[in-house]
Amino acid sequence: MSLSNLLLPDEAGSSSKATKFRFIIQRFFILTTMSQKNLPEHVYTSSKIPDKPAPDWTRFVCVSDTHNKVNLKTYNVPEGDVLIHSGDLTEVGKLDQIKTAVDWIKSLPHKYKIVIAGNHDLTLDKPFYEESWNGFHHDKEDADEAINMVRNAGHGIVYLEDESFTIPENGYQIYGSPYTPRFYDWAFNGDRGSFLNEKWSKIPPTTHILMTHGPPSGILDLVATGENVGCVDLLQRIQEIKPLIHVFGHIHEGYGVLKKNWETENNDDIKSTIFINASSVTRRYKPQNNPIVFDLPPLN
Ligand code: 5GP
Ligand code: MN
Ligand code: MN
Ligand code: MN
Ligand code: MN
Repeated sequence: MSLSNLLLPDEAGSSSKATKFRFIIQRFFILTTMSQKNLPEHVYTSSKIPDKPAPDWTRFVCVSDTHNKVNLKTYNVPEGDVLIHSGDLTEVGKLDQIKTAVDWIKSLPHKYKIVIAGNHDLTLDKPFYEESWNGFHHDKEDADEAINMVRNAGHGIVYLEDESFTIPENGYQIYGSPYTPRFYDWAFNGDRGSFLNEKWSKIPPTTHILMTHGPPSGILDLVATGENVGCVDLLQRIQEIKPLIHVFGHIHEGYGVLKKNWETENNDDIKSTIFINASSVTRRYKPQNNPIVFDLPPLN
């Protein structure tokens, strides 16, 4: 069964896959309702998550923006098959901070841990770091070591920088990119327009789960000044691809879940994307936002 079939609402109500998918969407509706404006610190408690996904389903657990503010004692990460971390692993990417973040992720029980960088993970952006290291760190050579630490961490850690990973057991295709629109002068910052368009053009149309550090424009991207600061260029690419899931962070105050139905020429062919802002810390960098969990059925 193809992904688009999976997303088709089944008129006759006879497909068990479609029914299953509706079940999971209903769960997201609950989350969406709970995540609208004035977010409580905890969108849901772990008691509201079923202990295990349905048989043959895959459980994904999303965190982001952990900024060295979380550890095993202070921050509970539910078990699951795949951990997703959407960047800002550290405070400013110092080697000991990278090591602390990687050690924490290594210690988690998930078989795969898909990780991207964020604008705070300065050493992971080698060209940026080699230009600007002086303002933050002492060692110009730290970039190679930092990148080596995340790329060769083992323990199921998969580091994505504008690249894909397919989960061998179920074929779900994940694409990750660390870039965000320029805001002051941070790592993986890109100018809106042609630079970011070129980055987003690399996202394969076959992507099921998209991971970026920042949100698309207008989606879980509202800051205190009332501006939607997400990436317009990213939203355009998402409208072309319509991934099943998009996980990001970066705008901490946008933590939550939102489901969007896409209009298509053929009214029967309703597609939707579930957007997850998984920022684990608040705007004040307090680790008070729970990981967000979703379960997906087998692809075929
Ligand atoms: P971080 O520094 O961890 O990347 O982002 C932390 C906070 O900075 C966000 O929660 C948001 O309040 C603010 N921020 C990040 N990027 C932008 C941006 O592009 N524009 C504005 N106005 N605020 C941003
Ligand atoms: Mn900051
Ligand atoms: Mn150093
Ligand atoms: Mn952050
Ligand atoms: Mn960020």
